Amino acid sequence: MTETVSGWSGRHDHNSCVADAIETAESICRTRGTRLTPLRRKVLELIWSSHRPIGAYAVLGQLRDERDNAAPPTVYRALDFLMEEGLVHRIQSLNAFVGCSEPEHAHAGMFLICQTCGDALEIEDDKLDEAIHNAAGAHGFAVQRRMVEITGTCPGCAAKAA
Ligand SMILES: [Zn+2]
Ligand SMILES: [Zn+2]
Ligand SMILES: [Zn+2]
Repeated sequence: MTETVSGWSGRHDHNSCVADAIETAESICRTRGTRLTPLRRKVLELIWSSHRPIGAYAVLGQLRDERDNAAPPTVYRALDFLMEEGLVHRIQSLNAFVGCSEPEHAHAGMFLICQTCGDALEIEDDKLDEAIHNAAGAHGFAVQRRMVEITGTCPGCAAKAA
């Protein structure tokens, strides 16, 4: 079963995405006894400003609009925390970060990335997970971490191009 975790930009009410993400992050940190400090929360909000993966320096630039003293290590530490808690994913091919809307359960990331508008849609597919593990296992390989990044064209951009 392929499950869509979030939606393409412009096809949903994004404000409610952001509100849900922050609320979920707060409850996860409360349950786990970790701290979503005001800075970590702000960084999470900046990442959630859209479904387009954002680089650490872009996050820093926006953070500096509010906090002139924000330094790169501060942002990197906040990003590390958010990744550890599964609240954001790092898109390796873009070296950028995107919010996770299903952080309650452990999962490997799988993203459809639009090369035209930059949107990244996270999807989950148990069958693909299984296939990857089976294929690796056939070679005696134990999978530790995997990230599937698929580039192409989103429905909105495909419609505009047509
Ligand atoms: Zn959204
Ligand atoms: Zn996720
Ligand atoms: Zn697009």
